[in-house]
Amino acid sequence: MSRSVLVTGGNRGIGLAIARAFAQAGDKVAYTYRSGEPPAELTDLGCLAVRCDITDSEQVEQAYKEVEERHGPVEVLVANAGITKDQLLMRMSEEDFTSVIDTNLTGTFRVVKRANKGMLRARKGRVVLISSVVGLAGQAGQANYSASKAALVGFARSLARELGSRSITFNVVAPGFVDTDMTRDLPEETRDDLLSKIPLGRYAAVEEIAGVVRFLSSDEASYITGAVIPVDGGLGMGH
Ligand code: NDP
Repeated sequence: MSRSVLVTGGNRGIGLAIARAFAQAGDKVAYTYRSGEPPAELTDLGCLAVRCDITDSEQVEQAYKEVEERHGPVEVLVANAGITKDQLLMRMSEEDFTSVIDTNLTGTFRVVKRANKGMLRARKGRVVLISSVVGLAGQAGQANYSASKAALVGFARSLARELGSRSITFNVVAPGFVDTDMTRDLPEETRDDLLSKIPLGRYAAVEEIAGVVRFLSSDEASYITGAVIPVDGGLGMGH
């Protein structure tokens, strides 16, 4: 069965791996990107690239219209786009805080709310939000990011209760340390410190996150909603 899947921030990193995994499984995949050229490998897999900045409701609306025209209403939404603006609290500007919240939390609200329209009509749907181990455990220098990722849990669980009777599931994936552009920006010292705390002793490959997202969107996961699934090599155990 080929479903209409939308992945935000699918042009690189974890989002690209998620888009690739759904496309390889035969789904109709659309993904958002903000600038530059859409990655050739996703074009070759037949994925639809839609330009969209999730901080802009108008662009979100336009993106959905384009996806709906080409693939039909979104049946599986993966809200993956996110940013960091790390800083110790004393040096964190209000803009550092609000811009991270606006992308990671309010941006997720914008895309989920718009997807909900079609899912309500279809009386089914799958929504997977990409949070982070630091949303549960906290991380010095990431109060803005951590707060935004923790908020996704309350957001997903509220919607799981609100929309469960319509067979729409809302789940959260909380990756640990994944080797992407986002983590390559971290200072060497922080990377080494994190690595020493991961029981599996290594970073995650993007495919290891994508596999769990696909599972949560599959028939096998039809009775899972409001769950937070850590994919962190054991880094966040106990939360
Ligand atoms: P990257 O920095 O590699 O990619 C981020 C993606 O989000 C890009 O596609 C980017 O688009 C997109 N994006 C950012 N802001 C916006 C916006 N305003 N509108 C639309 N798209 C936007 O990050 P990762 O792949 O590492 O992370 C993906 C998700 O996983 C994020 O939510 C992140 O917080 C989470 N995560 C990552 C971890 C890691 O270790 N890497 C660990 C835990 C969670 P563009 O290319 O245009 O900038």
